[in-house]
Amino acid sequence: MVKSFLLAFPMMVLTFVMLSGGRMSDDPKKMVAFAITFLFVNILFFLMIRTGKTDKYRSILFISYAVCFVISFITHLIELRGSMAISGANMVEGLTPFCHIVIPMTLIPAALTKTIIFPGTIIGGFASIASMFVLWIGASLALGRGFCSWACFFGGLDDGFSRIFKKPLIKNINLKWTYLPYAVLFVVVVTAALTLSPTYCEWLCPYKTVTEFVEVTSVKILMQTIIFVSLFIALVIVLPLLTKRRTQCGLFCPFGAFQSFTNKVNAFEVRIDQEKCVKCKRCLQVCPTFSVDEGSINEGKMRITCTKCGKCVDACPKKAIFFHVKCTPLNSTLDRYRVFFLYPAFLFLTTMAGNNIQDAIVKTIRLLTTGSMF
Ligand code: SF4
Ligand code: SF4
Repeated sequence: MVKSFLLAFPMMVLTFVMLSGGRMSDDPKKMVAFAITFLFVNILFFLMIRTGKTDKYRSILFISYAVCFVISFITHLIELRGSMAISGANMVEGLTPFCHIVIPMTLIPAALTKTIIFPGTIIGGFASIASMFVLWIGASLALGRGFCSWACFFGGLDDGFSRIFKKPLIKNINLKWTYLPYAVLFVVVVTAALTLSPTYCEWLCPYKTVTEFVEVTSVKILMQTIIFVSLFIALVIVLPLLTKRRTQCGLFCPFGAFQSFTNKVNAFEVRIDQEKCVKCKRCLQVCPTFSVDEGSINEGKMRITCTKCGKCVDACPKKAIFFHVKCTPLNSTLDRYRVFFLYPAFLFLTTMAGNNIQDAIVKTIRLLTTGSMF
């Protein structure tokens, strides 16, 4: 107990600074939101350290983050421009928030034209392009594809739906489908370079359904809206419910595919101790992003799509799966590597989630006391 407290104490200090932004607000609603969020994240972190379980507590924060992000984002958009719908004038003014999923589509056009093919603000403002690039570079160095389970503000949605039913109704999914995100990535990068426009955002992003959308003023926009909503229902709600997997992240998202390559430069990985493994395949069944296959079990290494969520680590009945720091001796009994990973990962998650959770709490208090969120 004392050891767990001592290991968790630095996180309390760091999250205090992160969540308060260095100064305490004197608004009572913000003070309540800060206190609830601070306690919430630190209880989860303490339980991670104390119990040795990672995904069990990560998922609570990750899903809360996604729900609060949607509440905070939509209310913020309505405050900023009066509606969830975006108009041509909003785009000219740069009032479109930039999102990490656009990053792979911007790189070739930026090299060719020296401009970012997205109508957002470069610095300052709301979700500016520079702030998202800084976040992405930092998260990629610290987490690699762990971004998808520890930093992405959308990932908690399909993660949440995948946990609702106790057993999957669809069990066998051909692993060939896991190559689809790479095909989507290739298509959107090439089409973005050819048309100098973010084609995934224009045609394929399911999350438009719960963030912002273009006013339907033409047949083309109507078609785009139908595609966004259909993909959201299929990939973020229905398939995660039926398969108990994160199907948007594991079978479609081009950013996830892109982010897999950063796993190569990241220091952390998840490994299997083959001396302890009894080949029960529990890890293969529970992995939400299809990152464990027969080869992983035989060779002790996860596929490059592993998001380091820790679900297989929690589920393995033989404690054969463990977090590992590359270039150090393999040792499945040392919990210290998991703690090394948890510090940057949990800090990223708290930094990203903290403002959204506090903002959603403030707006909920406002709704309960005044009848309006604004
Ligand atoms: S869950 Fe554990 S014991 Fe079972 S196959 Fe995976 S690593 Fe081996
Ligand atoms: S292999 Fe394990 S840690 Fe990696 S994504 Fe799958 S369940 Fe999560």
